Amino acid sequence: MSFSATTKRRLTEVLPGRRCCRRALLYGMLQGGRGFSLREMALQTEHSEISEVYSSLLEQLCEVQVEIEKGAFHILTVPENRRKKLLADFGHSPDELSVRLNRGNFHCDDCAAEYIRGLFLACGAISNPETDYHLEFNVPSLPLSRDVLSLWEELGYDAKCIKRKGHSVVYFKDSNVIEECLTLMGAGASALELIQIKMVKDIRNRSNRAANCDMANWSKVAAAGEQHRRALTVIRRHGGFGMLPEPLRELAQVRWDNPDVSLRELGELLDPPLTRSGVNHRLQKLCAIAEEWE
Ligand SMILES: [Zn+2]
Repeated sequence: MSFSATTKRRLTEVLPGRRCCRRALLYGMLQGGRGFSLREMALQTEHSEISEVYSSLLEQLCEVQVEIEKGAFHILTVPENRRKKLLADFGHSPDELSVRLNRGNFHCDDCAAEYIRGLFLACGAISNPETDYHLEFNVPSLPLSRDVLSLWEELGYDAKCIKRKGHSVVYFKDSNVIEECLTLMGAGASALELIQIKMVKDIRNRSNRAANCDMANWSKVAAAGEQHRRALTVIRRHGGFGMLPEPLRELAQVRWDNPDVSLRELGELLDPPLTRSGVNHRLQKLCAIAEEWE
């Protein structure tokens, strides 16, 4: 089961206790569904748990029995003769040109979060955090998406919005914000799962970076060793290390004997020891001499 499907299933497991919150949850599902008007009022979902919540809340709270069509998707339609009453129940007039969010339906501090949960069940999705951090609400109308954006803003979160195929997609990309949104909607288990996946990913990335870094250092050491070996070979061909000035002689021999150590390690092998930059300076001199003698 996808992360999105699991999250939705979790969100249907425990429904709010307060009547006002259950209404707010239903309101979110109605507004996130296919149409919230006299012309059309339906919910299309592939999750049987969501269709169950939708139909039972409509029956409990509004005495509406939905018509259910089962195929690849469940399509739950509010009968035409019940739509006007339902719109009125949520404070909407049937003549409204566009669907807006009516805050009059929020009665307690938790109602807004329940509305968002309903909206997510009807038109939300979340990516698998293994591949991407993305949580979205595919809001069916532009004016409603603006209301949803400002609702998120009041809750303290900056969502983004783009248009996609006539819908307005309100979305989050920040993994920390997505964790908080999941918790707010009541999917704490999904938030925890996301945190765990993120930790494992971070550790994996960090060790990959460290391995890449080791590899880069190692090839630098190998390349330098090769260059020095070539220079020292030239010097040996032209009379040997004994021809070199005193401070370079010992280093030339130690380098010849230790072609694959780093400059710092090379400095430690000298007597007296020499710093990395001191070693580097003298090796450059050796290379310059070799170039001259060649
Ligand atoms: Zn409430």
